[in-house]
Amino acid sequence: MKLVNGNEIIQLFESWSPKKLACMPNDPIGLAIGTVNKTVTKVLVTLDVTMAVVEEAIEQGCELIIAHHPPIFRKLSHLRTDTPAGQLYEKCLKHDIAVYAAHTNLDVVEGGVNDLLADALQLENRKILEHTYSEQLIKLAVYVPAEYATTVRTALANAGAGQIGAYDTCSFTTAGEGRFRALEGANPFVGEIGEVNIEPEQKIEVVFPSSQKNRVLKAMLNAHPYEEPAYDVWAMALTTNEAGLGRIGTLQEPLTLQQFAEFVKVQLNVPCLRVVGDLQQTVAKVAVVGGDGNSYIAAAKRAGADVFVTGDIGFHMAQDAEVNGLSIVDPGHHVEKVMIKGVTEKMTALCKEKKLPVQFIESTIHTEPFQFI
Ligand SMILES: [Zn+2]
Repeated sequence: MKLVNGNEIIQLFESWSPKKLACMPNDPIGLAIGTVNKTVTKVLVTLDVTMAVVEEAIEQGCELIIAHHPPIFRKLSHLRTDTPAGQLYEKCLKHDIAVYAAHTNLDVVEGGVNDLLADALQLENRKILEHTYSEQLIKLAVYVPAEYATTVRTALANAGAGQIGAYDTCSFTTAGEGRFRALEGANPFVGEIGEVNIEPEQKIEVVFPSSQKNRVLKAMLNAHPYEEPAYDVWAMALTTNEAGLGRIGTLQEPLTLQQFAEFVKVQLNVPCLRVVGDLQQTVAKVAVVGGDGNSYIAAAKRAGADVFVTGDIGFHMAQDAEVNGLSIVDPGHHVEKVMIKGVTEKMTALCKEKKLPVQFIESTIHTEPFQFI
């Protein structure tokens, strides 16, 4: 059986949920503990990394943990093993368990925490609540001898150029003539030194996000047969599709706030939740932010939400929302546990597609610190 290096798994994960989507300054995402430069056969997916979760990873034979909440959130000033946190890091290192965190990038990404919550609440006509990320588009035009056009087009597509919405391999080609005279010291692919050469060429145009520029240009230059390929690069006044935090959408049927709160309880599998607003009022438009959504109350109101579903709502924020006519359903921060199943399924599918024999396991450890009595 093929042995899979942990780096391949992380690359695959980041091809779906790249670090650039993180929307919190200095969000401590990425590899937090250990190394992934080793063979990985099993990965444990969890919301939080607690001692019980690390013990579960050891028991299950997992070499890697993928968590939503970063296990080292603040800068470490010491690494003592007489503190609970230090003991957790020590346990991971002693058992060669690596921990990788995908925090706000996983909140933002399509199919991430917020989409999973919106799925659970069956929200329709879904939009992003607050845009946090977009990238400028770059256009490349390259002049290629006709018989190499397919080679270069393929290399560009393989490097990720020409992705537009739900399409890939997009390009435009026009035929023409290239003229050039090779001077003394040149090593021309076609034509003679000192003679003007006229070559049937094709101009290939593609677009790509600015972060892909080096990768795409490198792929083009590697595939192009000329010593001095001619090409143009433009920064466009267009951006990629935007990404962002939170989702807003409509319920399949309008409900009273009371009915909606009951629905949230069932769908997100929580024993209790807190509600702000008139329980008899009808709600149809729902905004959702996984985790602590205190700073998105205004965005939810602006976007026209009747009710905002989020965790960790503070007393004064709840008062503000109430006077502003925005109802709130707070099922707690722990509802982000939807990422456990979501990430496990997504990564299992991605690894299957790439034929990587890696098993993703959903953690069964309950990490909610609150009890409801
Ligand atoms: Zn969270």
